[in-house]
Amino acid sequence: MSSLMANYRRFDVVLERGEGSWLYDTEGRRYLDWLAGIGVNVLGHAHPAVVAAIREQAGVLVHTSNLFHTPQGAAAAEAVAGRLGGGSVFFCNSGAEAVEAALKLARRRAWRAGEADRFEVVCVQGSFHGRTYGALAATMQPAKQEGFGPLPAGFVSVPPNDLDALRAAVSERTCAILFEPVLGEGGVLPVERAWAQTARALADEHGALVVCDEVQTGVGRTGRWWGFEHLAIRPDAVTLAKALGGGLPVGALWVDDPHSEVLQPGDHATTFGGGPLVCAVVRTVLETVDRSGLVERAAQVGERIRRGLSDLGAVRGHGLLLALDLGEPVAREVVERALSAGLIVNDVSPTAIRLAPPLVLTDDEAETGIDLLRRAVAG
Ligand code: PLP
Repeated sequence: MSSLMANYRRFDVVLERGEGSWLYDTEGRRYLDWLAGIGVNVLGHAHPAVVAAIREQAGVLVHTSNLFHTPQGAAAAEAVAGRLGGGSVFFCNSGAEAVEAALKLARRRAWRAGEADRFEVVCVQGSFHGRTYGALAATMQPAKQEGFGPLPAGFVSVPPNDLDALRAAVSERTCAILFEPVLGEGGVLPVERAWAQTARALADEHGALVVCDEVQTGVGRTGRWWGFEHLAIRPDAVTLAKALGGGLPVGALWVDDPHSEVLQPGDHATTFGGGPLVCAVVRTVLETVDRSGLVERAAQVGERIRRGLSDLGAVRGHGLLLALDLGEPVAREVVERALSAGLIVNDVSPTAIRLAPPLVLTDDEAETGIDLLRRAVAG
């Protein structure tokens, strides 16, 4: 363990096994997982469909490179695009990579149109888009950027849900407006419908793209298939990762039909992205979420959790991406008490606790989690 780099503050727990909504440590203690690997394990741990897909595909074909077609790559792209109403998909390996691809596509689209001066990306204060340089430049959190400069230029920040600031920021230089439908790492802060619709209108007026970063909100987590459905807009591009691979590393950039030809052979690429193993799992995850009605389930269970906690503080978010804001900087202590009692949650801000359980959470597990969290808050 000591050979691991020191860039994480890990809990003093060694996990060795998972099943459904539960994790087990090496001491034989079990934990109800209300973090799901930071919004990843929508189907919980060791879901039989995911296990079967991995086993089956691992024995057939794992990697080929993107110089060839595979049935699994085509089927996974169709599974994503089919649920987004057309368009096309580029697979990569993480959320940050999906964001990088979106940034490159937005700039390349402008450049192809002879508008090399259209390179600005309008982003939201408190956003989180990843740790690579483009994604980090779009991540409007000074503490995350500090000491890593110079960052790529051309990223403009506006306060969340501020219509006037948005109107002032978007111009003929804007190639994209990039936002999370719910700012996840920024404290589980939902974007308001009026703001998103203004972004859509301004992008249309000025010839920019609307890019929704659905790395945390996608694949049913908010009680809708996609977070942007809460906003009644259609984005031009969507970035995905986390839940898409059921725990395997994957990212994806989806773009609507008019932009499917922007990136031509040689413009952007990845060695591992979209390999047959991960793509077999992507398709399985999407089909299982559908078949098991987990999107509706996320909405229902999320409502139950919201009701069960609302007297403790402000509960914000949608579906099973929620934060309980206690109004004072006690979140870390509560998280530690919860962990000792067998519930995994995380302090998304000094005052707020993020709740992002698997979408397979049962009603009994919801009640158990509510009870454990209430006790952790009470001290
Ligand atoms: N975008 C959003 C909205 C995220 O929440 C995250 C990670 O938390 C990322 C991008 C980066 O994803 P990854 O850690 O897979 O690079």
